Amino acid sequence: MTTTAGRARGAATWRNWSGTATSHAQHHLRPRDTADVVRVVRWAAREGLRVRAVGGGHSFTAAAVTDGVLLDLDRLAGVEGVEPQPGGGALVTVGAGTRLHALNRELAARGLAMENLGDIDRQSVAGAVSTGTHGTGARLGGLATQVVGVRVVGSDGTVREADAGRDPALFQAARLGLGTVGILVALTLRVVPAFTLRAREEVHDLADVLDRLEGPDGWVATTDHVDLYWFPFTHRALVKRNHRAEPGSGPSLAVRRRLEDEVLQNGAFELTNRVAAAVPRAVPALNAVAARALTDRTYCAPSADVFVTRRRVVFREMEYAVPRAALRDVVGEIDAWLRRTREPVPFPVEVRFTAADDVWLSTAHRRESAYVAVHQYHRMPHERYFDAVEAIVAQVDGRPHWGKLHGLDAERLAGLYPRFEDFRAVRAEHDPTGMFRNDYTDRVLGPVG
Ligand SMILES: Cc1cc2nc3c(=O)[nH]c(=O)nc-3n(C[C@H](O)[C@H](O)[C@H](O)COP(=O)(O)OP(=O)(O)OC[C@H]3O[C@@H](n4cnc5c(N)ncnc54)[C@H](O)[C@@H]3O)c2cc1C
Repeated sequence: MTTTAGRARGAATWRNWSGTATSHAQHHLRPRDTADVVRVVRWAAREGLRVRAVGGGHSFTAAAVTDGVLLDLDRLAGVEGVEPQPGGGALVTVGAGTRLHALNRELAARGLAMENLGDIDRQSVAGAVSTGTHGTGARLGGLATQVVGVRVVGSDGTVREADAGRDPALFQAARLGLGTVGILVALTLRVVPAFTLRAREEVHDLADVLDRLEGPDGWVATTDHVDLYWFPFTHRALVKRNHRAEPGSGPSLAVRRRLEDEVLQNGAFELTNRVAAAVPRAVPALNAVAARALTDRTYCAPSADVFVTRRRVVFREMEYAVPRAALRDVVGEIDAWLRRTREPVPFPVEVRFTAADDVWLSTAHRRESAYVAVHQYHRMPHERYFDAVEAIVAQVDGRPHWGKLHGLDAERLAGLYPRFEDFRAVRAEHDPTGMFRNDYTDRVLGPVG
């Protein structure tokens, strides 16, 4: 093509981080700015090509895959404007392709921070928001709830600004819509003054943890951010409780990085997984060793450093939001299934929490949610495990993370989201020809119109 849009790489094979999705787009383009995006969209409309934006490629699903034009928005990055707010914090407008790690650095330099984050920072802001990425904290919503405005290029090439006052329906659909109502080129985020977190990690008996989570004095209600990891075939769970604190109210992060990264995420954990793949029946013993290596610790650091970890062991993941009240039964059923089948699963199950919110396609839409995430090493089969967990969470109307593996389709999802049809109407209005569709969006959102 002859557009000025960045470096036209021509046809190229693109793969996501986990290797679960591959795209053979006819064109892989890197627009320089919004005007470039508009040119590409208009050209694609004339040529009858489909267009998908891609961020960090960290979705496990084929959400970003296309056979038409793959738009890599890495060059639409950086802070465009900062509007301080009364009482501290600010509204910060950033390019849609800004990676979370770059955003965190930019915010820290200005004495600001995201109020909550997930557990990695490799994603782009647009990609993370578009799939409902979340962290943990029962008083806080996912990343999309921190978005107060979007700038989006529609399938007709028009650039629109939307927020709660201006075109609120487009705002709702564009901020968490899998890129199906347009290409996000900028987002305005509500951010808070920079803060320190004091993290307390403790190893407990799983049954104990489940007893202590709920109630007015329970960990979920009394902790800013609570996260737990439970190793299948063991009774041990690592509970992380992070509280806002004064700087220096605990040892620094360096102490924690070494052990936790090794056991839960990296070096030794890769080795454990390789042994598990070679000798699956050794998994219960391996998990027992890994769970015993976990110890209690306390540390203190700027918020983003506590939220974010490194993930070098490649895995597959499925994550479901379930009503908080259903968590105990769901974990109990997963435990029972694993013990019955001895399915080899060397990865811990992770549980997190968020507040209910009003974002139409948010997994926490109008529901206080517990998130149950199941992982499998990339060299081991995940299908039987994920299918079993999916059947368990189906009984409590679990909603799957839009960026992680799952088997639901539009018919089932429509019954789980009260505003599903409103979303589809906005999508049909802004993309009547289906320029932004792909096979994954057809499955989970249905055809356009
Ligand atoms: C190791 C790992 C850890 C993770 N941790 C968490 C976590 O803690 N919490 C959590 O909730 N999730 C987590 N995830 C999931 C991840 O946050 C989401 O899948 C997220 O979408 C990835 O962002 P990305 O920039 O890589 O987006 P991509 O995967 O590149 O794209 C995701 C979707 O967004 C669309 N999109 C991207 N850019 C735009 C744009 N500019 N305009 C319109 N649409 C766009 C794409 O078309 C696609 O549909 C994790 C994933 C991995 C691999």
